Amino acid sequence: SRSGFCKENSTFYSKRNPISLPASPSLDVTTFISCQTHRGTTAFIDAATGQRLSFSDLWRAVDRVAECLYSEVGLRRGDVILILSPNSFYIPIVCLAVMSLGAVVTTANTLSTAGEISKQIADSKPTLAFTTAQLAHKLPAGISIVLTEEEHVEPTGGVRVVGVLSEMMKKELSGQRARDRVNQKDTAVMLYSSGTTGASKGVISSHRNLTSYVAKMVAKESLEDKILICTVPMFHTFGLLMFAMATVAIGLSVVILRRFELNDMLAAVEKYRATALILAPPVLVVMTNEADIIKEKYDLSSLKKVTCGGAPLSKEVTEGFLKIYPTVHVLQAYALTESNGGGAYMDMVDSRRYGTVGTLTPDVEARIVDPNTGRLLGTNQTGELWLKGPSISKGYFKNQEATSETFNLEGWLKTGDLCNIDDDGFLYVVDRLKELIKYKGYQVAPAELEALLITHPDILDAAVIPFPDKEAGQYPMAYVTRKLGSNLSEKQVIDFISKQVAPYKKIRKVAFINSIPKTASGKILRKDLIKLPSSKL
Ligand code: AMP
Repeated sequence: SRSGFCKENSTFYSKRNPISLPASPSLDVTTFISCQTHRGTTAFIDAATGQRLSFSDLWRAVDRVAECLYSEVGLRRGDVILILSPNSFYIPIVCLAVMSLGAVVTTANTLSTAGEISKQIADSKPTLAFTTAQLAHKLPAGISIVLTEEEHVEPTGGVRVVGVLSEMMKKELSGQRARDRVNQKDTAVMLYSSGTTGASKGVISSHRNLTSYVAKMVAKESLEDKILICTVPMFHTFGLLMFAMATVAIGLSVVILRRFELNDMLAAVEKYRATALILAPPVLVVMTNEADIIKEKYDLSSLKKVTCGGAPLSKEVTEGFLKIYPTVHVLQAYALTESNGGGAYMDMVDSRRYGTVGTLTPDVEARIVDPNTGRLLGTNQTGELWLKGPSISKGYFKNQEATSETFNLEGWLKTGDLCNIDDDGFLYVVDRLKELIKYKGYQVAPAELEALLITHPDILDAAVIPFPDKEAGQYPMAYVTRKLGSNLSEKQVIDFISKQVAPYKKIRKVAFINSIPKTASGKILRKDLIKLPSSKL
């Protein structure tokens, strides 16, 4: 049977071949990636300039940058570096170099405001930031930065430029490879996620976690992937793990778009005869709605596969897309920042099973747990998905409370997603139990917006919930209790927040309410708010 469901302890096992991992305790993930057999010759193509980077260029650059960072900048094992940059091949270079030194990579969303970034910096305390002259003003004064390229404009805002990456890439190697010894248990990457509740937290991903992810992706390697287009942001787990690690290990050619723009993406598909795209679900909606113009303008005949992840993709959207692009296979993948690619994915043969996110990745075990009773459930029963395995993160950075809420003592990650697994082992994501809102795949933490709302002098209390939207998936909606005598308007609330947050976090709908429903212990009863008529389309 394909089920792989073990009845004795109600644990679901992957039916895929198991992955063997290196035994040596001191191995950094960069070295592991560099030891894989690479298939192609071109690693990256910059879509904007056409500049190509071969795999040998890439590894030479990684070595040189690592040497400069170690001997000239003084970067050491355990130091944190922040990447604040639009997508470019500089991100994989920095990421691989930094990880090879045992230092830790963290990223910030380029759309974040200076205020949002400074909160993250206060938490992660990076010793160095990699950024562009255009984005440097978002960083706090006094921070040391490395610019990706030499630019004519001077960065403003009091940052200290200590190097230029494109120059570091050209330096001759000294021949002496001074490095700290890296343990597989060391933290390699720390990406921010709000998890099931509260504000954004740093997810600790070890070299071991990422080695397990890379090993799985190398084993999965599919022949349809020859030339991929990268449109998803590399500051997010999906983009960073895929394009700074997996595609490098497999040896795939990746055309990088600085940011997602539909026409640029389609032009790149045609120009490079791309075979695979990795997209956030809303892009499929747009590609379906604008099909007439797209088909007239672009030759997309090379495209074989579209992989979607990061947010739900409905059966209707998939079917609508396939009517227009019948030769393309639409595959879903499901993972979380906390699982480092562990979760589920679909194989080509299963591409007509609409609505599923596929079967378990080989590196995880799963449980379906009744959220009210804690009882372990069987096939075809809906409950919270728990995941366990070598790619699952150990917890949140300096946040014991959130860590023990989300990761239990046996190593299970409580995903906060309501799921079921059918008799064939296929996973379905039914609903989201956790607070998290996903706007076009971007994370929005209600707690963060609520904290801002109650700083308004006219607001007594507030709660933020997801409002359904066909294109974006969801957007944040606020329920607001005004102070006595206030006639604060919806627009005033929306404007108050939009001045302080990245555009994707904007509150786009407001309803006023006499009081926010809460439990005896003061927790917001979001499910009650979601049930109200004003929370529905
Ligand atoms: P992130 O940590 O930003 O990757 O967000 C992870 C969350 O995104 C998951 O817990 C899900 O709620 C949601 N998600 C990711 N992939 C999918 C998918 N294929 N279908 C439905 N929801 C998804």
